[in-house]
Amino acid sequence: MHEYATARLLVETVLREAARRSTKSVTEVHLVIGNLTFLSTEQLQSSYDLIAKGTPVEGSRLIVKENEGVVECDGCGYRGPLNTFSDASFLFIIPSLCCPRCGNTAKIVAGRECMVTKIRMEV
Ligand SMILES: [Zn+2]
Repeated sequence: MHEYATARLLVETVLREAARRSTKSVTEVHLVIGNLTFLSTEQLQSSYDLIAKGTPVEGSRLIVKENEGVVECDGCGYRGPLNTFSDASFLFIIPSLCCPRCGNTAKIVAGRECMVTKIRMEV
């Protein structure tokens, strides 16, 4: 389960930060995830709650901001979102990394990130 592993890493990161500042409890964690990570925010949240249980992170709010994926094409210079993402069924197919303009192979320049941007804690 992709979300569980991510949530565990996330909680570990937050706990490390909290320990460094000798924090009693964490109240808010802000996270940015790219939509090309294919992480479900809902599943991430439930895994997060489960893993945080019994730690200073327990009960904190997880605030997730989703970043849109961006691809770049060497063939025609296109830089922008993948067209397929307007389609709800994209979750069930493997997104081809084809340039929406010329069909060349495009590389991902944004949308794969998963990072903590802010942690609010009580000292
Ligand atoms: Zn192209």
